[in-house]
Amino acid sequence: MELFNTLIRDTKALLEKGSPKVWDYNERACWNDIGSSELVLQKDAAFELGASGRGSANYVLFTSSEELVNRDQVLLYGPDLKDIKGDCDFARIVLLRVGVLDDDDEQVYRILKDIEFAKYHVYPEGYMVRMSPESYREQVRVSKKAIKKGAGFQGIGNGYIKAYKKDPNVLNATVIFVTAPGYDFAAMKDTAKKANDITNTLTHILEGLPTDCSVCSLKGICDEVEGMKELHFGVGDKGAEKGHGH
Ligand code: SF4
Repeated sequence: MELFNTLIRDTKALLEKGSPKVWDYNERACWNDIGSSELVLQKDAAFELGASGRGSANYVLFTSSEELVNRDQVLLYGPDLKDIKGDCDFARIVLLRVGVLDDDDEQVYRILKDIEFAKYHVYPEGYMVRMSPESYREQVRVSKKAIKKGAGFQGIGNGYIKAYKKDPNVLNATVIFVTAPGYDFAAMKDTAKKANDITNTLTHILEGLPTDCSVCSLKGICDEVEGMKELHFGVGDKGAEKGHGH
């Protein structure tokens, strides 16, 4: 699974100028998970991360490269929850090293989607997440009570890692939070869109779209993403009769 490698490198470049706080994954240091979504009312909120009008991005990138992702870690660029004074920019980026995905192309898309769905099963106490997949944003309302009780990104990130690692295909999970201003959130959103385009193209490929690049509407993505064409031409022979018009 090398399709997202360029995006992982781009993401690292976007964060390069910062020096993050780093925590190794510790299953016993997860913040309380309440098991279902909690309503945090505005009057009980301390602030919102990625509030409307603020920078916000959310995406997951996959790789099988150990060189690119080799730790279970939480990284924080910017202030932790207890130090945030008001609404701020916010990104949550997840890098996952996955195994076995190259063995069975037909299953790749489903497995990636299953893994991505893990994020819908994380419910940190006092941390109400609103995702907006079409705009690649994530907005979080954090309650005053949670801050008082000691909520922080280490525990919340650990909770996400725990959820991702429930899937045996996930070998390593790095969860990155960005709360500092001054990062290129628009570029992050762009990366999120590209990642989404790649997964969508994968679906089309796996559904047996004809392999004729000259008339294919996905050519733009496939030209840009290394490995996409190889994947298409390697998958079964459903469209092979149309020829490979590169
Ligand atoms: S490899 Fe060619 S035919 Fe296949 S999806 Fe990409 S552009 Fe379309």
